[in-house]
Amino acid sequence: MLKAKGYAAATATSSLAPFSFDRRDPLDHDVLIDIKYCGICHSDIHSARDEWGGSLFPMVPGHEIAGVVTAVGRAVTRYKVGDAVGVGCFVDSCRKCAPCRAGLEQFCAEGPTLTYSGIERDGKTPTQGGYSDKIVVNEDYVLRIPGNLALDAAAPLLCAGITLYSPLKHWQAGPGKNVAIIGLGGLGHMGVKIAHALGAEVTVLSQSLAKRDDGLRLGADNYYATSDPATFKTLKGSFDLIVNTVSAPMDWNQYLSLLAVDGTMVLVGAPPAPVPVAAFSLISNRRSLAGSLIGGMRETQEMLDFCGSHNLACDIEVIPIQKVNEAYERVLKSDVRYRFVIDMASLKTS
Ligand SMILES: [Zn+2]
Ligand SMILES: [Zn+2]
Repeated sequence: MLKAKGYAAATATSSLAPFSFDRRDPLDHDVLIDIKYCGICHSDIHSARDEWGGSLFPMVPGHEIAGVVTAVGRAVTRYKVGDAVGVGCFVDSCRKCAPCRAGLEQFCAEGPTLTYSGIERDGKTPTQGGYSDKIVVNEDYVLRIPGNLALDAAAPLLCAGITLYSPLKHWQAGPGKNVAIIGLGGLGHMGVKIAHALGAEVTVLSQSLAKRDDGLRLGADNYYATSDPATFKTLKGSFDLIVNTVSAPMDWNQYLSLLAVDGTMVLVGAPPAPVPVAAFSLISNRRSLAGSLIGGMRETQEMLDFCGSHNLACDIEVIPIQKVNEAYERVLKSDVRYRFVIDMASLKTS
């Protein structure tokens, strides 16, 4: 076994604190990764506080992992020592079911093996995530980070990036398409950048105009405040695609009214309570309400390559791991532009 260290939540009510644990020695198809950076995703907080149920403790969160390969198993063919690599929200899947065979491992019929708070496919070993110094992952679930992207800014692409890229591609955001992104946070700011790079006309729908300058700098063509009732009159029936990144309660009917004929609103955030949708919100204009969850391995690599070729990554604030609990509180207050990334070199001083 390999000795690893990181930060873990001991229970759903405890702060994250230094934690030592074992990683397996690399098996034939495994890659050992020296973790350089890990993004802080809102779901890390939900999981560490067991807000969705089923969390496993002690838990080392983190599924926006960027690092460098330091060893490979005997049968590894895709990676070599020194490669810049990433690991996202899952580290394995059954590989046999229809979604897995279609490259949609995130929808594995058995459930993908989550990067943390999951159980390895041996049925007993808990997985531990990226707020740590190293991780061992089967090469089929490792991604290549393009050489021109800085590892710290690339880390959040592994969750935030693919969460937005996948629906934008699936619903064909591109030239001639009118796309709105609801919410300009960690997810939303990536939605603006990617939709813009895909060639779509991009509108940000945010509560206020406070981040308007940022939104336009990130690539938005238009920026509207949803606290202004005039916004919903002006934009009625105008979007082909709306990606909703907000998990706070909101009136979806109001937003559905902004869709053009055959328009789709895609949810990537998860509000805690069911939201009522009126039939007429969908019947009118033949609208769709849909959802999307991260992406499969193939599409995640495609997203990284796309970001590499457009020289596009996340806007980040780098912190030492000792500030992780403080960062959690700031994420909850949306006080970050736009993603916290932990510099794992700081673990050495812990
Ligand atoms: Zn995430
Ligand atoms: Zn499967």
